Parts: sequence; C-alpha cells; structure tokens
Amino acid sequence: MSRYWSPIVHALRPYVPGEQPAMGTVVKLNTNENPYGPSPRVIAALSAEIGDGLRLYPDPTATRLRDALAARYGLEREEIFVGNGSDEVLAHGFQALLRHDAPLLFPDITYSFYPTYCRLYGVDYREVPLDGEMRVRVADYRQPCGAIILPNPNAPTGIALARTEVEALVADHPDQVVVLDEAYVDFGGESAVPLVRSYPNLMVIQTLSKSRSLAGLRVGFAIGQRPLIEALERVKDSFNSYPLDRLALAGAVAAVEDEAWFEQNRDRIVASRDRLAAALLGLGFEVLPSAANFVFARHPGRPGATLAAELRNRGILVRHFARDRIADFLRITVGTDADNDRLIEALRTLLR
Ligand code: PMP
Repeated sequence: MSRYWSPIVHALRPYVPGEQPAMGTVVKLNTNENPYGPSPRVIAALSAEIGDGLRLYPDPTATRLRDALAARYGLEREEIFVGNGSDEVLAHGFQALLRHDAPLLFPDITYSFYPTYCRLYGVDYREVPLDGEMRVRVADYRQPCGAIILPNPNAPTGIALARTEVEALVADHPDQVVVLDEAYVDFGGESAVPLVRSYPNLMVIQTLSKSRSLAGLRVGFAIGQRPLIEALERVKDSFNSYPLDRLALAGAVAAVEDEAWFEQNRDRIVASRDRLAAALLGLGFEVLPSAANFVFARHPGRPGATLAAELRNRGILVRHFARDRIADFLRITVGTDADNDRLIEALRTLLR
C-alpha cells in the first residue's frame, strides 16, 4: 500500500500465475505448457531475425502474421487481431467489448484472470455456476446480461462444449458479444471459428502458447468480424503500437506455417493425456473428461492441497486452486510419457 497509488490500484486483485521454478530438474506439470519444443522452422526464423534489423520497430499492423493466420483459418486479414499473448488480447477485449451496463457472465469455475480484468477495467460481472458434473450449461446463460465470456474447453476443468451448444449460445444473444476463449481447443475441442462469418457478435480468441509450444514468445490472436476486430485495434493503438516484437512476429509466422509439427505434437499429447487419465483412474482418482492438454482430478482419500505439497517435495509441480468446489482437485498438465510416469509413480507411493 502506498499513498502514491492511483485509487484503482488499491482495489486490484492481480492474477497469480503458476510457479516458474529456477531449478532445472523438476517435472513441471503446473502451467499447461507444451512438453515438446517449437518447430525447428521457428528456431530458424528467430535466428534469421537477430541482426541489425532489431534497431527498427516491428510492423505495428503485424501484416505477415495476420496473413499467415488468415490463410490457416480461411479468413481475411481484417478478421484477425494479434497481441502479446492471448492474455493481452483478452484484456483488450474486456475493455473494448465486454463492459456494458448489464453484467458480464462467465462460469463460477473458470480462468481466474476474468475477475481480475473486471476489476482493472470496471466491468460488472455475474458468475454462472457449473452444473453438478462441472459442466457449462448454455441454457443457464439465458438471462439479461451485457456480454458473455467462456473458455472452451473450460479451464481448469478441461471439459468442452460441442459447437452446436456454442452456436445456440451465440444465436441466443444477438445483442451481446460472446467471447470464446479457445486457448486449449486444439487438443480436442470443436472450434467456433467456422461460425464467425455467420455471427457478428462472436469473437474467438486463441494462443500459440499451448498447441504451438510458444508460451515463451507471447503470441495470441482474436478472430471475429471486422467491427469487433476494429474495437480491439482501437484499444491496442491507444495502449502500445508494437505489442509483438520482431522476434515474436517472425517466430509466430513460422509456427503457424508448420502444420505438420503442430499436428504431430498435438497427437502425441492427446495420446499421453488419455494414458495419464487411465493411470489416475487406476489410482482411485476421479478424472473429469478433458479435451485440453491438462486433466483435472481429485482423490477421495486425500485433500488436493496436501497432494500438491507432497508432490512438490518430490520435485513434481502441479497446480492447485484453494477455491470452493475445486479445492480437492489437482490440475495436471500433460507432460511427456516419462514425466507423466514419474507423476504416477510418486502418487502411487504417496497414496500407499
Ligand atoms: N486463456 C486461458 C483459459 C488460459 O488458461 C490461458 C493460459 N494461462 C490463457 C488464456 C492465456 O494464455 P497466453 O497469454 O499464454 O496466450
């Protein structure tokens, strides 16, 4: 606390990211990173970009990257916005599109950055409870609201909505913006991108952090019809003209263009996820059905906080949220099969 702070700073409740340990030997299954490295074409593009050119500002309109994304998704450049991680794209979305007189709706169990952005940007919000099986029920969103935001698959549950359900939700709210946060969609969800041309109120946000192994480069993007994209551009150009540096732009283009690398790693992660979920079930865990690169699981005999702490003592990091309804769950990122096996062995010992 300081008397020098702007008044709003006192009321902020900053998001707390998962731990990034200094020690090199831990099994890191706590922040949903990809266990495999980025495409060699990304590394080559980054190396090629290092040189005298760095004295120049990057392209403020990120044209090459937006063209690469447009080609990948069958859209126009004008339907795409890019930012410094999807967190930044989301933040601009909260300010540009989600603040209205009526409350913003999102699930009670969801990405915990949403209420943080609401406080930062003065967005009134209402949490809509997940049902008894921890699922989003789109019918529960049929209520007066200013806008809606949902991750699909939801985080930290990993449970996905079918595209038909997403479409019903978007069609139900023609006068409100509906944002789909698809950070994890590539691991088994049905993307809403094919609906964008039909619904002027739909915005889809994705990231290169997970399925394209580039959490360290910070690149996210939004897809929507021109007026929604323009709202994000107006906020961005009132905030930072160059959110993506030259390296991020070059690396991101290469990542988007290497479809084979993306598919190969995604398939490996999906196979490892199913193997990990089966092993956890074998140890007596309840495992929610995941369409993401993590699983959400609880053991009837051991509190989540205890398990997370005991795993940490053994050099294995998983994420635990000290929150109502989910305090007994662990969110476990899918690692390599070797990482996942170390986790399972540690849990077997702990639960003995
Ligand atoms: N949305 C969700 C649901 C997430 O879990 C994350 C990762 N913490 C993000 C968005 C942000 O990812 P990034 O900023 O790395 O694109």
